[in-house]
Amino acid sequence: MSSQHDAARKAEENLKSFSQSLDVNELSAAVLRGEKKALAQAITLVESTRLDHADSAAGVIAQCLPHSGRSIRIGITGVPGVGKSTFIDVFGMHLIRLGKKVAVLAIDPTSQISKGSILGDKTRMNELAAHEQAFIRPSPSSETLGGVARKTRETIILCEAAGYDVILVETVGVGQSETAVHQMTDFFLLLMLAGAGDQLQGIKRGIMEMCDAMVITKADGDNIKAARFAKAEYTGALHLFPPKESGWIPQVEMTSATERRGLSEVWQMICDFERWMKDRDLFEAHRREQDIHWFHETIREKIIYSFYHDPSNISRIAAAESDIRAGKVTPFKAASNI
Ligand code: GDP
Repeated sequence: MSSQHDAARKAEENLKSFSQSLDVNELSAAVLRGEKKALAQAITLVESTRLDHADSAAGVIAQCLPHSGRSIRIGITGVPGVGKSTFIDVFGMHLIRLGKKVAVLAIDPTSQISKGSILGDKTRMNELAAHEQAFIRPSPSSETLGGVARKTRETIILCEAAGYDVILVETVGVGQSETAVHQMTDFFLLLMLAGAGDQLQGIKRGIMEMCDAMVITKADGDNIKAARFAKAEYTGALHLFPPKESGWIPQVEMTSATERRGLSEVWQMICDFERWMKDRDLFEAHRREQDIHWFHETIREKIIYSFYHDPSNISRIAAAESDIRAGKVTPFKAASNI
């Protein structure tokens, strides 16, 4: 975790010296040439909360946007310990062997609390992190999920502009961040453990309902039998959910990251999905619908921000709070007064 801190401090320092001579055109051109250092700097710029960075960040995004979009964006979630980082490490390497450039991003809104994200940590994905054709970036830290999500969406654009054609967005399957990842990816993959107690209770129903595929991890050794059983069980369970609008039926695969098995099956499934969506003109349409979602999300964020930062509201809110504490007014009445 301290290495995470060091990395963040280094990036901040790099950006400081860099922003003195910041040339948006130069930086954008370097990103488009696929230079990793420039990509990292551009992301740091996007993540920066400094007001003087906002314009430069917007400039870089604007120049990269026309060169983005040519990738498959894959969301990956699952409870801690399910094997996400091990899977991403070997799956990413599998894709690189197929000639792909792979970017791994992470969304972890808890990183603000834990002061350092464990998701997307390079030390968790040793082989991939060392590879020339891979780019790994931990979760941006921000106070709000909305802030983290916006930064990650912009980072996807930058990675695509830099030529990464598979974008893996990782998140922990415990909170609301899955919904955000689902809303920014084309394909949503849920990793599941076999035989972990009550089979269908481990993960919330809503998350199972969102997924385009499920992968039973650690299907090796003594665990193979349980994995086969879980595969049958989940295949049945997925059929009980309302059908997806696209008509796509979520599938269940088994993998062993340690034995590198099941990887080509998972990739084949993702390619089938892409074909399925493109044949029906749904692939781009789905992304445009996501844009609409983020449009409204951004409006909501901005309204809330400007409401709570308006000086006259700040004093009125403080006064209302003390009235509520003193039992002089109900919270609903106080809110509607403001
Ligand atoms: P994460 O918290 O979801 O990122 O999970 P990790 O990738 O860190 O894996 C959690 C544990 O499961 C580690 O001890 C891994 O070595 C182990 N693990 C991961 N993948 C496999 C696998 O395919 N087979 C087996 N047997 N163990 C695995």
